[in-house]
Amino acid sequence: MDKVQVQTRSTRSTCPYCGVGCGVIIDSTGDDTSQGEIVGVRGDPDHPANFGRLCSKGSTLHLTATPLVRQTRRLLQPAWRPARGAAAEPLSWAQTHQQLAQRIAAVHAQHGPDAIGLYISGQLLTEDYQAFNKLARGLLGTNNIDSNSRLCMSSAVVGYKQSLGSDAPPTCYEDLDHTDCVFITGANPAWAHPILFRRLEAAKAKRPEMKIIVVDPRRTESADLADLHLQILPGTDVALCHGLLHACIWEGWLDRDFMAKHTEGASFDALKTLVRTMTPREAARICGIQEADLLKAARWFAESPATLSLYCQGLNQSTSGSAKNTALINLHLACGQIGRPGAGPFSLTGQPNAMGGREVGGMASLLPGHRDPNLADDRAEVARLWGVDALPATPGKTAVELFEAAAAGDIKVLWIACTNPAQSLPDQALVRRALERCELVILQEAFADTATAAYADVLLPAATWGEKEGTVTNSERRISRVRAAIAPPGEARPDWQIVRDVARLLEPMLKQAARPMFTYETAEDLWLEHRAATVGRDLDIGGLSYALLDQSGPQQWPFPAGAAQGAQRLYEDGHFATPNGRARFIAQPWKAPQDKLDARYPLSLTTGRLRDQWHGMSRSGVVPRLFGHEPAPTLRLHPQDLPLRGLKDGDLAQVSSRHGSLILPVQADADARPAQAYLPMHWGEEFVSGQDAQGRRLAGVNALTNKAFCPDSKQPELKFAAIQVQRVELP
Ligand code: SF4
Repeated sequence: MDKVQVQTRSTRSTCPYCGVGCGVIIDSTGDDTSQGEIVGVRGDPDHPANFGRLCSKGSTLHLTATPLVRQTRRLLQPAWRPARGAAAEPLSWAQTHQQLAQRIAAVHAQHGPDAIGLYISGQLLTEDYQAFNKLARGLLGTNNIDSNSRLCMSSAVVGYKQSLGSDAPPTCYEDLDHTDCVFITGANPAWAHPILFRRLEAAKAKRPEMKIIVVDPRRTESADLADLHLQILPGTDVALCHGLLHACIWEGWLDRDFMAKHTEGASFDALKTLVRTMTPREAARICGIQEADLLKAARWFAESPATLSLYCQGLNQSTSGSAKNTALINLHLACGQIGRPGAGPFSLTGQPNAMGGREVGGMASLLPGHRDPNLADDRAEVARLWGVDALPATPGKTAVELFEAAAAGDIKVLWIACTNPAQSLPDQALVRRALERCELVILQEAFADTATAAYADVLLPAATWGEKEGTVTNSERRISRVRAAIAPPGEARPDWQIVRDVARLLEPMLKQAARPMFTYETAEDLWLEHRAATVGRDLDIGGLSYALLDQSGPQQWPFPAGAAQGAQRLYEDGHFATPNGRARFIAQPWKAPQDKLDARYPLSLTTGRLRDQWHGMSRSGVVPRLFGHEPAPTLRLHPQDLPLRGLKDGDLAQVSSRHGSLILPVQADADARPAQAYLPMHWGEEFVSGQDAQGRRLAGVNALTNKAFCPDSKQPELKFAAIQVQRVELP
C-alpha cells in the first residue's frame, strides 16, 4: 500500500523546560496555526545555546502536546466551583472576566489593594510577566506580586547586585570553550542543564588539562567528570569559600593589581578580617573534607589562567543564599577571575524565563528594567512609562510571605498562574491553610490536575508551549522567540490575553489610570512596552525588535539602539555597575542552616532534580518514556544508615521533619554521605503523600521542608531539612 505523505510545517521556538534555553524546531501538520497537530520536535542547529542538540526532555516535547494529552490533561474551559470541594462548572470567558473583575474590585474596595496577591511563574513568557506586573502595580496598586523564581534565583539576583552592582550574569556559554578551571558548586548540570554539560564534556575531552572541581554533598554524574570532588556537608558553602579565600590570601594567590584597579579596598579589608579565623584547616573541619583538597581547589581556582564558576540551587535555596553567592563572587574578585573569556561567576538559571521575569520586574523586590521598588525615583519613572499617577510604595510580599499573609487572613484573593504552590512551596501545611482561607483562589493553568487546582475557586485555561507567542531569556542573557505552531485546545488562551481582558473590565471600576492601560492587541505590543522600560538601563534592549530576532535569531542583552550585536560578556573593561564602577567584597559570616539536627531529627535531607523530570511533572509527567530513568520516588540513604534503622533496600519508611511526614520506600545510595538523605523534588501526591500534625494531607518532598528564608533574598531553604526515618511495620 502506498504511504500517505503528510505535509508538515516547521516553526522555530524555544524549549520550555530549563534555563539553558535551547532552540527547537516544531514540526506540525495543517496549513497554519489554526489547525493541525504537533508531530515532532528537533534541535535548532542555528540556535547558539544548543546548536541542534536536545536532552531527553527537550527531544520528547512533542509527546506533551499530542491530541490525547491536549484533550485529557489540559484545562479546556473556564470553570467556577459553586463551593469548595464541589465540581467546577464551566462558564463562558465573558462571564468569567466579568465575575472576576467584580469580585476583585469588591475586595479592593473593602480591604484595599494589599488584600490581593499574585503568584506567577518563571515558566511564563516575558510578555505575560509584563501584563501581570502592570495589573498588580499599575492598576491594582499593590506590590504583592511574586514569582516561583523566588524559589529559584533570587539569591543569585542579590549576589550580583550586592557584589557587582547589577543583576546581570557577566558570562556566556562560550566561556566553557575558553576556561581552564570550572568550579561547579550547588549544581548538577549533568542532570539539570544537560546540554550545557555536554558542552563542558566536549571541552574537557578537547583539553584534558582543564580542571573541573565539583562541590556537592552527593556524588553526582557531574562529580564523575570532576578532577576533584569536594563532598562538603550540606549548608557549609560559605565556610568553604571563606576557607578558599583565606588560603589565597595566605599563599599570595590574590590578583592585587585587579583588586587595586577595580574593587573597593575598604570592603576587602572587612572581608579579610572576617576570614582570618576561617583557616583552611577550620574550613575543612566545618565542611567535612580534607584540608589538602581544599588547598588544591584554592590553587586551581586562583592560579588557572581563567576560572569559571557554575552554580545553581545548592547555593540559592538556603537561609544563607545571598551570603553563599557573594562568598563565591568574592573569590572571583580577589583572584581577578572575571571580565575575561572563560572567567567569571555564572549562575545557571533553573527555569526557562526566570531571567525575563527579573528583567520585567515581575517580583515583589523588583521593578521593570532592573529598577528598585524601594526607590521613589524608580517608581516614578515606571509610573510615567505606564501613564499612571504613582506606583505603590508599600513593600510587596515575597512567595512565602504571600502565603503566610493568606493563612493569616490578610490576603483575600490569590491569583496564581502557571505554577503549583500546593506542591512546590516549602511547608505544605502552611500553603494549604492559606489556600483554604483565601476568599478567592484563581488558578490560571494549562494542566488540569495539579495539586493547586483542587483549591481553586476559578480555573482559567491557559495556552502553553507550542501554542503561544513571545520571548524568553536564558542564563546567558540571550533573548529567544517563542512561537505558536498550533492553536491552544478548547478555549485555552495566552496568559497575557486573560490578564488583559480582566484588567480592561477592572480599569473603570478602580478608576486609577489616566489613559487606557491595557490596549495590547499582540504579544509584541507588550514586549515593546517592556523594551521602553529598559532604555538607558544596564539591560538596555532598545536596539532589538521582534523583526530583528526573527531575521538574526536570539540575541544577548544589553543591545542598545545602534549596536550591531549584544554584549557577549560584561565588565571586560573592568568597570562594574556600582555607582563608583568598582566591585564590592561582601563580608557575611558562615551560618549553619536554620533547621537544626538533633537526636530526634538526626539526618540532613537535601532535595534536587532528576535527569528526565521537570518541576512538579505537570508537563514531563505525561511522557511515559521519561519515567524509564527513575520510575518512582525513593528516599536515598547511605548504605550504613539503613541497618541502623532496621531497614533494607525497598522497605517502606516514615520520613518525618518538624513540618510534616511522608511514607515512601528507601534506597541504599553510596553517593550520599552517612547521615544524609536525598529526595527528588518532582513527585506529587499521586506518588508520595503524607500529613501534617493535624492530619492534613500533604504532597511530595515539600511536606518536609522548612519555610525559613534568606533575610536578603527571601529565598526559602529548600535544600535542607532535619529529618528522622523510621521503618513502617506492615500489618
Ligand atoms: Fe530543554 Fe534544558 Fe534540555 Fe535544553 S537542556 S533541551 S532547554 S531541558
